[in-house]
Amino acid sequence: MTSRKGDDIDRRTFLIGGSTVAGLFALTACTTPGPDDTPTPPPAPEPSGGVGPDDLELLVPQPTAMRRSNWGSDPYALGAASYLAVGATQRHRELLAQPVDDLVFFAGEATSGGRPGTVAGARASGSRAASEVAIAATSGERIAIIGAGIAGAQCARDLTDAGFDVTILEARERVGGRIDSRVDDDWPLPVELGAGTLDSVTSAELIDALELADVATLAIDGAVDVRSPDGVAVEPSEVGSSTISEAVTLARRSLAGTVGDVSLETALNDLGSTPTSDDESSPTDAEWVDSAVRSSVGVEYGADASDFSALSGFDDGRRESDRLVVGSLQGYVESLVEDVDVWTASVVLAIVYGDEGVSIRLGTGESLQVDRVVVTVPLGVLKSGDLTFDPPLPTSHTVATVMLGMGTIDTVWLRFDEPFWSSTASRWSVVGGDLDIVEWINLEPSTGSAVLVGVVGGERALALAELSDDEIVVRARASLEPFLSS
Ligand SMILES: Cc1cc2nc3c(=O)[nH]c(=O)nc-3n(C[C@H](O)[C@H](O)[C@H](O)COP(=O)(O)OP(=O)(O)OC[C@H]3O[C@@H](n4cnc5c(N)ncnc54)[C@H](O)[C@@H]3O)c2cc1C
Repeated sequence: MTSRKGDDIDRRTFLIGGSTVAGLFALTACTTPGPDDTPTPPPAPEPSGGVGPDDLELLVPQPTAMRRSNWGSDPYALGAASYLAVGATQRHRELLAQPVDDLVFFAGEATSGGRPGTVAGARASGSRAASEVAIAATSGERIAIIGAGIAGAQCARDLTDAGFDVTILEARERVGGRIDSRVDDDWPLPVELGAGTLDSVTSAELIDALELADVATLAIDGAVDVRSPDGVAVEPSEVGSSTISEAVTLARRSLAGTVGDVSLETALNDLGSTPTSDDESSPTDAEWVDSAVRSSVGVEYGADASDFSALSGFDDGRRESDRLVVGSLQGYVESLVEDVDVWTASVVLAIVYGDEGVSIRLGTGESLQVDRVVVTVPLGVLKSGDLTFDPPLPTSHTVATVMLGMGTIDTVWLRFDEPFWSSTASRWSVVGGDLDIVEWINLEPSTGSAVLVGVVGGERALALAELSDDEIVVRARASLEPFLSS
């Protein structure tokens, strides 16, 4: 049976939101009023051409630059962040983190007990694995680390400082992994296509380390501008988060004493319908619930309610995102490994371990013999089976790999010549309707630059990933129409 802390789910989980991007969109009472309820659209801009016929109908101007991620089809990530799927618990993360025969060690966000799915959690997992190696090994041993994300880089830093001979094997041409900072003259700040925001409480140590490394972060205010699809400013409501909380509590009660679990979708269905607002101009309660699911599960975990554990999914202590990294997070990862031997473009295909130590086979055909190995590849890569182990990993690792879910989150960065909006809120959200991108971070208040970042998760992210860049721009502009200046 899933271990329970009791029926009282931490309601703040829903009200505050998560530690990563979704924390930005928790629709609490903190809001910046939008313009009049019936905004008058500005005159249509000159058509920019080249993005499809419906471009002519759009009122939001053409951005001057666009960048997007596609983590779901990235072969060295195969998703954005791990989550607790139906039947999974934190115990599966602990099992995945267990060393095998004191030869194969594991780190990475999916193995983090306290802060999975975050940069801070991945970094701490790297230090945890380094401590485990240091206990099992003697100084001077040769250690290989698979993956140069923050977990691998931090592990390498700690082991190098402790006197080990460390080599990192990284599949990509660059370090950073799911931290992907694009520094480009077209942009006033590094474009963070992966992680880009931090929670100042749970990531305090990391933020201090960034400061020491001269990587700037800025505060993001908590104001959320919520609109209906036709641009009417809407007072944020707690109906969505409280309905989720009720559904989870009910599911926990009805499954108490059993080994069962249900998806959040099932838990919400079991709860039945919630009373609907009388006011036809406001979003319906169902729309508020959809919106809360989209932010607290979709954008936060990259998951869908149909697969997200109602019992354990929200138990991992994710918190609010209130700091924006503006000084290149990837630069920080690079600084951690500047004196470490890093083999980029080195895809590891197989790890053979036993009495002779560890032999690592690369896609280049080369092999490397080391004393021990630390595996930090993402859960998505472990799930794919593209990396093999001989002998196979213990059943506990295999079960954990299968049970944990890997979600997809993507970001769309748009730069404009000047703001076309009047909202001063840092977070925008659209409740109701069927726009493609309904959650945005407005970087203008914190950075002074007319840059908007759309964030999508779960099925929506997978659907958008199918589109071309030009199509994405059209969909993004259409999605931004509720925020046109009046
Ligand atoms: C879009 C998005 C937004 C996010 N937003 C936030 C946020 O705002 N705040 C936050 O705290 N976190 C956020 N995260 C999560 C955060 O990025 C991750 O938790 C963290 O970066 C994971 O680090 P890691 O070292 O565990 O894994 P990774 O960074 O994925 O590192 C693993 C490395 O292994 C390499 N690798 C894979 N396969 C092989 C192989 N076969 N051989 C060799 N190397 C291999 C990969 O290339 C990669 O470099 C976000 C993630 C995404 C994708």
